[in-house]
Amino acid sequence: MPFCRARCAYCDFTSWAISRAETTPAAYEAGLERLLGGLSELGFLGHLETAYIGGGTPSVLGQSLTELVARVASTGDAPPEELTVEANPESATAELLRAVHAAGATRVSLGVQSLDDGVLALIGRLHTAEQALGAIQGASRAGLAPAADLMAGLPGEEGGALARHIECVIAAGATHVSVYPLEVHGGTALGRAVSQGKLVLPDEDAVADELEEAARTLEEHGFHRYEIASFARRQAQSAHNIGYWTGTPYLGLGTGAASMVPRALYERLREHIPSLPEAAASLERFRLTCVSPPAAIARAEGPCELAFEVEGLSARAALAEDLMLAVRRTRGIGPELSASAREHLGSPYERAVERLLDLELLEAHQDGSLRPSASAWLVSNELFGALWELAPDEPVNLA
Ligand code: SF4
Repeated sequence: MPFCRARCAYCDFTSWAISRAETTPAAYEAGLERLLGGLSELGFLGHLETAYIGGGTPSVLGQSLTELVARVASTGDAPPEELTVEANPESATAELLRAVHAAGATRVSLGVQSLDDGVLALIGRLHTAEQALGAIQGASRAGLAPAADLMAGLPGEEGGALARHIECVIAAGATHVSVYPLEVHGGTALGRAVSQGKLVLPDEDAVADELEEAARTLEEHGFHRYEIASFARRQAQSAHNIGYWTGTPYLGLGTGAASMVPRALYERLREHIPSLPEAAASLERFRLTCVSPPAAIARAEGPCELAFEVEGLSARAALAEDLMLAVRRTRGIGPELSASAREHLGSPYERAVERLLDLELLEAHQDGSLRPSASAWLVSNELFGALWELAPDEPVNLA
């Protein structure tokens, strides 16, 4: 749902402010529902383990979000066990949260970012701290599992503010907390303010301290880290997100939505979507990004009209990707994946692991797994890079 009431100052996602969008969220939603219906009729959505309605800001739809949730919940042979709706606090009213729960949602992911009203205004967020805490409480009362996203590295937030905000969202009832460092992208309002010297951000060391303090605070409150940025109470991990990191195929619908499908599923999709290119027999996994603009989604009568960017991965690249995704998780690389990497990637894999053990970024555990060390979380790109390099010249861009 690539629409927001207004663009946040740091936003680099595929989303449009409603006032500047080429179509309305309601028309887009109707198009999405037709696409869901079309894919379902073709037999692609028979069994949904999880679903995620994200954005943008799905809650800009107001009460009609309920219809989309109900449509998703009734698409497969049974409602998905986990159905998350993303929402921003200013539009996540208690009434809407109750309605989406009644329609089949099990979880809500709220963009909180900070609980300092001055900082929220500075980064272009439209809600206050009070609204954010109210939305978490409202979700909890509605029977939804509330997840809160917070940011590290925000201007003016040094000195333990993030840890205090974490305590507040936990006290309000959040059962899942994600903490992301603020990223500055050129072309955003924040990027311009930083490059013109109008805004000074905390330095890397200060952000690292903030992230470490955040992790300690979460663990003291019974949250365990299960992925680089994700912490949860027992039973509150996101099954949907775990799917992304464990090679589970997924289909994304809508502008900018990503899909990951194995060869057989890609070939089945190609039978119905003429814009999908033929792929060399050596490619085994495909990553698709829907590039149909919102107006095309709003007009679409069926999946055959969708346009995609497509990347193909060989078996070797898919394995390197699995390794890279595995080290996002605290469980790391399990014995089976490790054995498969040894067999198919050979000595480059052995050398990469040896180097990462020497650098103390990976730790070998007794159960045969290789897990990221405590210090790896702050330099994770080094870890990901070393594993992704095992598949040079990949992925292959198809269209
Ligand atoms: S709510 Fe999210 S998608 Fe929308 S403008 Fe802000 S950061 Fe971007």
